[in-house]
Amino acid sequence: MNIDTIENGYVIDHITSGNAIKIYRLLDLENIECQVALITNVKSKKTKTKDLLKIGKLIDIDLDKIAFIDPDVTVNVVKNNKIIKKQKLQLPEKLINVCKCNNPRCITSIERNLDQVFNLTDKDKKIYRCHYCETTLEKDKFLY
Ligand SMILES: [Zn+2]
Repeated sequence: MNIDTIENGYVIDHITSGNAIKIYRLLDLENIECQVALITNVKSKKTKTKDLLKIGKLIDIDLDKIAFIDPDVTVNVVKNNKIIKKQKLQLPEKLINVCKCNNPRCITSIERNLDQVFNLTDKDKKIYRCHYCETTLEKDKFLY
C-alpha cells in the first residue's frame, strides 16, 4: 500500500498495532479539516507489525495523549516535505482531562466542572491514580 507523502503535518510512526485508532479517537481527528491517514498492520523490521498515522496539517496535537496511549511511538514533524523533527515521547506524569474517574463517589463525579486529573504513580506498570480519590485508572476509559 502506498500512501502519499505529506507536505506539512505529522507522521506518527512505530505505533503498536491496534493503537492508532485509539490515538485517532483521543486526538479527536475525525473532527479536523485535513487529510488523515490511518494505516494498520504495516510490516516493520523492529516489531512484527505496526500502525502509522499521518496528519496532513501542522495542527496542535497533545503529545501527552499520544504518549499515554503509546509512549514508544515516534512523532515526525514534516514541513515542506522534509522531516524537521523526530520527537520521542515520554509517559506523562499527569493526565488532565484525558480520562474520567470511574469512582461514582469521586468529587469529579459530583462537581462536573472540576478537571479530571490523574497522576502517574507507577512508571514501570503504567499505573495512574485519580488525583482526588486515588482510584486506579482503568485503561481505555478515555474521554471520547
Ligand atoms: Zn476520582
